[in-house]
Amino acid sequence: MNGTHQHVSQPPFSALGLESLQEWARAHELPAYRALQFFHALTKLGIGEFGELTEFPLDLRRRIGAERPLRSLQVRMHLHSPTDGSQKVLFALADGMTVETVLIPSTRSADPRRYTVCVSSQVGCPAGCTFCATGLSGFGRNLTGYEIADQVMYFAQALRPEGRRVTNVVFMGMGEPFLNVPSVRDAVQRLTDPAGFGLGQRHLTVSTVGIVPQIRKFAQWGGQVNLAISLHAPNDDLRSSLVPYNQRFPIKDLMDAARNYIASTRRRVSFEYVLLKGTNDSLDLARELARLLLPFGGSAHVNLIPWNPFREGRFVRSEGPDADAFARALHEGGLNATIRYSKGLDISAACGQLRDTVELKKASNPSSDAADLTPLQRTIA
Ligand code: SAH
Ligand code: SF4
Repeated sequence: MNGTHQHVSQPPFSALGLESLQEWARAHELPAYRALQFFHALTKLGIGEFGELTEFPLDLRRRIGAERPLRSLQVRMHLHSPTDGSQKVLFALADGMTVETVLIPSTRSADPRRYTVCVSSQVGCPAGCTFCATGLSGFGRNLTGYEIADQVMYFAQALRPEGRRVTNVVFMGMGEPFLNVPSVRDAVQRLTDPAGFGLGQRHLTVSTVGIVPQIRKFAQWGGQVNLAISLHAPNDDLRSSLVPYNQRFPIKDLMDAARNYIASTRRRVSFEYVLLKGTNDSLDLARELARLLLPFGGSAHVNLIPWNPFREGRFVRSEGPDADAFARALHEGGLNATIRYSKGLDISAACGQLRDTVELKKASNPSSDAADLTPLQRTIA
């Protein structure tokens, strides 16, 4: 078998945990400490090339470099936003499919060292939400745990020379994490492993469209990982028109699951609400939303996300005054709410509206989004 074939059939080194690396070292008649060195280089340092395995002699680096790839992702395109410092990468997976990942630096001057990576959990998404570019693009396949973790490790490595690090991870890229739970659990385990990358669980957030049985299970396995539920509407008629999964798991069941989650974990839940002008942003709907979520008291927080337009999108974004009025109505109704203006609009990097960059290039005016939208984040207290 030549090297190319081996590359196709063997998972990359980043797929191997410490135990598998120890087995691998034994099979290659390498001393046990090599496995530990390799594991640390892969998970703590986040090396991206065999050349960075500086503790290994050159001939050993060459030998293992011919065996299989180091990681699961290859960069197809890397875009930097000149306006807000966000970055988007289009990655090719071993089978040629592509996913996107976004790096979002903090805007808060109090917290300048905060770097959030928004990861994809699937190629495309089967949920088909009508306002979501990923949902409209259909479903490719589930990612593996190491393909998810490698998205974070890529940015960990990119930030390292500047003395910065990834501090937060949100599962808000392509895909529905709770339709791919084994891989998401595996990725969470990898990213929070104290012997590896070592992120605190509280620095991770899983966002779900509302797969009720999995919310119930998450209460058991999620630990301190944050939960965000994408709600987008306070009643079933409207929600079903935006989120097809609502027909399977209607709002009452979703609220039951959220209540159960809060009761058993004593943690807060974020409710995501994409603001679509004339569709779900009226003040009546804000009041209805406040009534729906009020029983959660301080355990619920609403994140209002003015919709990010994309070429095939059939909606209109709620602009500043509408979003402000909606947030104020929620606040008057007794809820905590924050308007979150996505970053990276100028490079179509907005977390949660990812799509193929090739399409992006074909768009008639790819920078039009950026012209009139200033990325910022504001809290309605
Ligand atoms: N599938 C999960 C996580 C990925 S989507 C979920 O739906 O929660 C992450 C967030 O981005 C969701 O709240 C989703 O509703 C939102 N989103 C999707 N498309 C968007 C768009 N065009 N503009 C703004 N937010 C969007
Ligand atoms: Fe999938 Fe989330 Fe997009 Fe809905 S909003 S289609 S669940 S990625």
